[in-house]
Amino acid sequence: MKDTVLYLVLPCYNEEAVLPDTARRLAEKYRTLTENGRISKKSKILFVNDGSRDRTWEIITELFHNSTVFCGLNLSHNRGHQNAVLAGLLAVKEKADAAISIDADLQQDIDAIDRMLDKYEAGCDVVYGVRNARDTDTWLKRTTALGFYGLMRFMGCEVITNHADYRLTSKRVIESLEEYGEVNLFLRGLLPSIGYPSDIVYFDVQARRAGKSKYTMKKMLSFAVDGITSFSIKPLQLITLLGFLMLFVSIVMIATTLFDYYTGRTVPGWASSYCSTWFIGSVQLLSLGIIGEYIGKIYLETKRRPRYHIESFLWKENEEADEK
Ligand code: UDP
Ligand code: MG
Repeated sequence: MKDTVLYLVLPCYNEEAVLPDTARRLAEKYRTLTENGRISKKSKILFVNDGSRDRTWEIITELFHNSTVFCGLNLSHNRGHQNAVLAGLLAVKEKADAAISIDADLQQDIDAIDRMLDKYEAGCDVVYGVRNARDTDTWLKRTTALGFYGLMRFMGCEVITNHADYRLTSKRVIESLEEYGEVNLFLRGLLPSIGYPSDIVYFDVQARRAGKSKYTMKKMLSFAVDGITSFSIKPLQLITLLGFLMLFVSIVMIATTLFDYYTGRTVPGWASSYCSTWFIGSVQLLSLGIIGEYIGKIYLETKRRPRYHIESFLWKENEEADEK
């Protein structure tokens, strides 16, 4: 009998359509794991309501009252997926030996939990769930996702390709996470940088069973920008590089213009001056934009606002576990 107290942490934003099915499947999984002696009976499933506008919190409250396996954390406002995951992890850090974060739609295969536990028992502090194929995604999502991982790595941020936020983290990793005070949270980049022994398990992705994806193109783009700007100063360095490049081009341009001038071949170059005005203008604007992105981040970080406020936390002692 293993006595690992395992918590599952599920961020939920407007998930009323999938929650009942998710709860049923997870309760079943939990039963198998406890019956097989894989996890302690004190283990629980935590739903984090990320300021949903639908009946998500009502459903979580009902689940909590009907079974000791479930508990719920209610954030007072929508703070985004990453913050919801962190809120859940930090809320259970005293109680859990390890926690697995997984999306509420259970698109990720829950049978990978067993393999994550194997790795945890073998001494891993972080076990990353990595998806096998991207068949269920649209072409656009697949391409943008792979491009994103490539770009992140180019920018110098350690990310694991095709790993979303399905992962096991041990108690000490959660404790380390707490020490990061940043507001722009990008857990996928943060965790590899924390260190500790880690490993990967592969899993298949299913299509969403009900409800709609909460990651619109706009949210995905801002997530990508967040990821890059919170971890890398390469964009700033690229501006300098671009500056040098432009300087080189200007020198060549000046040289050819002078050559033309002295050989008497000067033609009033309306088109070229017009184009370069536009080009330089856009390069400057782009550069300013990138600098602005960082200044915005500095601004937010210096405010040191709390990431979230917990409105309520539903939790009670597991009776079956007490008898043991
Ligand atoms: N989510 C959240 N807050 C948000 C957006 C999403 O907690 O502001 C949760 C959502 O409920 C789900 C997970 O993040 O559990 C992943 O979202 P989704 O499944 O919609 O993303 P996709 O799988 O389409 O990338
Ligand atoms: Mg999903």
